[in-house]
Amino acid sequence: MDLTWSAEEEAFRQEARAWLAANVPANPLPSGDTRAGFAAHLEWERALFEARWSVVSWPEAYGGRDASLWQWLVFEDEYHRAGAPARVTQNGIFLLAPTVFAFGTEEQQRRILPRMAAAEDLWAQGWSEPGAGSDLAAIRSRAVRDEGAGGWRLTGQKTWTTRGAFCTHLFGLFRTDPEAERHRGLTYFLVPLDAPGVTVRGFERLDGDEGFAEVFLDDVLVPDADVLGGVGEGWRVAMATTGSERGLTLRSPGRFLHTADRLLDLARAKGPGAHRDRVVQSWIEAQAYELFTLEQVTSIVEGRQVGAESSLNKLFWSQLDIALHETAAELLGPEAEVDGPWSRGFLFSLAGPIYAGTNEIQRNIVAERLLGLPRR
Ligand SMILES: Cc1cc2nc3c(=O)[nH]c(=O)nc-3n(C[C@H](O)[C@H](O)[C@H](O)COP(=O)(O)OP(=O)(O)OC[C@H]3O[C@@H](n4cnc5c(N)ncnc54)[C@H](O)[C@@H]3O)c2cc1C
Repeated sequence: MDLTWSAEEEAFRQEARAWLAANVPANPLPSGDTRAGFAAHLEWERALFEARWSVVSWPEAYGGRDASLWQWLVFEDEYHRAGAPARVTQNGIFLLAPTVFAFGTEEQQRRILPRMAAAEDLWAQGWSEPGAGSDLAAIRSRAVRDEGAGGWRLTGQKTWTTRGAFCTHLFGLFRTDPEAERHRGLTYFLVPLDAPGVTVRGFERLDGDEGFAEVFLDDVLVPDADVLGGVGEGWRVAMATTGSERGLTLRSPGRFLHTADRLLDLARAKGPGAHRDRVVQSWIEAQAYELFTLEQVTSIVEGRQVGAESSLNKLFWSQLDIALHETAAELLGPEAEVDGPWSRGFLFSLAGPIYAGTNEIQRNIVAERLLGLPRR
């Protein structure tokens, strides 16, 4: 693996750096998990789009720059180093979009992707249900064919939908064949949240932000054109989304490298000896995560598939995020409780082992599919 950036990548870095330096808001935006904060973040997302930085790796026709995966990593690095706002469009751009590129029809790609890139349509992930979290195949929300209407009628309940109360659309799995095996009877649907029969109820998270929603669907009519990847193919299509969610597209190394550098600054400010070993260890782990992802990008660029390995990413980044923030909290002492980036980052890091599939489940996947251990 060659770790030097090409002249083209360096030029890309400089262009991104200059734009970010001139445009990143001087003061941090309010949390994107509040209604007002979400609106402020959308203004930022639209500025990113206007300058063609919102989806750099997408084709130009859809609002991107046709950037390579390497350039995308470079951009992410610069983005986090510049302290730019968290992406409130991430569930669409980083999770749904790769799935639409892989499984969507041309009509779906043309209809969905440009509006997503421009932050006009805002997508929420509707997978979890009261009885289906880790066991996603236990999904009970159903879709029943309505021949006369030329579509499907969706009924059921989704929960833990991140920023669902602020989004315009939902992607989710619904059971289309109750007789089929658990994994086989599912279909992936795209649902506008203003459709008749949809009720969205926001609720508070542990930190008081109202970023979650429950979504209730009561006989919601969705046309055939909003089935993604084929009827009964939902599990296979969803696993592609999951690969993006656990893998590097959702959590690029830039985010952790930047936090590790902030941790070093904090340790320096606190003086010699302050939790030195833990600071160094966390910093090294952030560099290790970058190397790990560089190796994965090499694999992808060379045409290999990343499968169950994305569970390793997920375990690594979620534990790394906690280590970085716990170390900062120890350095800060009682000051760690003051509302600010470290305390907010700490609270959010605690959710890392749960969302995108719990770490217990990721360990099962690593044990069975990567290490070949027998199922219990
Ligand atoms: C911040 C955050 C954002 C989220 N955003 C979304 C979103 O936008 N959309 C969405 O659909 N969902 C979202 N979720 C939900 C998340 O995907 C689920 O919480 C997660 O999949 C776990 O499901 P569960 O809560 O039903 O827990 P359960 O599945 O009931 O699990 C409870 C515990 O049992 C363990 N467990 C369960 N089965 C096994 C097993 N076979 N082996 C070992 N251990 C097991 C789990 O690991 C866990 O520790 C979000 C969650 C969080 C915390």
